[in-house]
Amino acid sequence: MVDYHRAFEEALEAVRFEGRYRVFADLERIRGGFPQATYNGGDTPREITVWCSNDYLGMGQHPVVLDAMHAAIDKVGAGAGGTRNIAGTTHYHVLLEQELAKLHGKQAALLFTSGYVSNEATLSTLSRILPDCVIISDELNHASMIQGIRGGRSRKLIWRHNDLDHLEELLSGLPVNQPKVIAFESVYSMDGDISPIAEICELAERYNAFTYLDEVHAVGLYGAHGGGVAERDGVAHRIDVIEGTLGKAFGVMGGYIASSAAFIDAIRSYASGFIFTTAMSPVLVAGALASVRYLKEATDLRERHQERAARLKFLLRDEGLPVMPSVSHIVPVLVGDPVQCKQVTDYLLERWDVYVQPINYPTVPKGTERLRFTPSPLHSDDHMGHLTAALNDAWKKLDLRRAA
Ligand SMILES: *Cc1c(COP(=O)(O)O)cnc(C)c1O
Repeated sequence: MVDYHRAFEEALEAVRFEGRYRVFADLERIRGGFPQATYNGGDTPREITVWCSNDYLGMGQHPVVLDAMHAAIDKVGAGAGGTRNIAGTTHYHVLLEQELAKLHGKQAALLFTSGYVSNEATLSTLSRILPDCVIISDELNHASMIQGIRGGRSRKLIWRHNDLDHLEELLSGLPVNQPKVIAFESVYSMDGDISPIAEICELAERYNAFTYLDEVHAVGLYGAHGGGVAERDGVAHRIDVIEGTLGKAFGVMGGYIASSAAFIDAIRSYASGFIFTTAMSPVLVAGALASVRYLKEATDLRERHQERAARLKFLLRDEGLPVMPSVSHIVPVLVGDPVQCKQVTDYLLERWDVYVQPINYPTVPKGTERLRFTPSPLHSDDHMGHLTAALNDAWKKLDLRRAA
């Protein structure tokens, strides 16, 4: 007899044994009160400070976004009512796709129900349309890209993270007429480093490769209009496909790609993950549209965001805490052990009302377990002073390693 139950229990036991069993924090965000939230996991509900949200600018609480969503639900109701093909294309979808195409300087854009789905569906479909293509994938690419590449069954080569020499070696080893796709990210969200997009474009042009860039952790945050690092670096026109999310800096939900009209039309026509699923709620689309439009002009907010991140890095380094090198808004602090990583986050929550999620394998390599702070424009100097004291106390209490 197959003991199904036991197989599941054993699988769970394995993650518990490695100290990386995941516990979700039961939270209620407080409308307009970001980064504060109510934590429901203790004996009684209490207010905590969120330090690890990907709602990087607090747009998920912004009145401009909330008002647009209220207006939409009052005007058109809750759901889309079907797939995009069957009654699910609302006027909000059309407007948002136009806005996103414009944001990235592309001819067209296509919405998906999440950033994950946009990567998975686009990459798998791309490699079905170009069956003999080789996808050259950065070794730290997100799970959704890896899954998409796997699903497409074309050949895959892994390129050492941000290593241009290795990328060129792989490109030059392939026949001139072989279709090649370079898939990579701009801001890598666990280390906070940024890829050399211009140099990668140069190689792509030299070897006639097609470029696919995940800007999930950069849209809304970088560039004069929030078009991402490619906009900041003035190279968006040299990238074939830009992929982004509406769930992080834009504060709502959904994902998209922006590219040439032909590419977008092909994905629209072939991608299972686009065709056979109910369209995003028009309420979400209206909120995302308001957010994208607002952030186009919000240079002050982007500057404040960068200033807050730099400030936190400075404060933590000044205390000898092991802040990992990061050139972006992400502030990773090394713990280096999954059990301690969980202990320190539990302690911060219980003793200091500081919520930060432990980042463990498989999200990061074993031995590099870390805390990942995402200070927003709404994290004040007081918040930062409190966090610094909390971390100092936790590092002492648990006898954790400081910076060299
Ligand atoms: C979060 C993330 C995604 C997925 O986006 P969602 O909208 O959350 O599904 C894709 N790529 C990267 C690099 C991410 O971190």
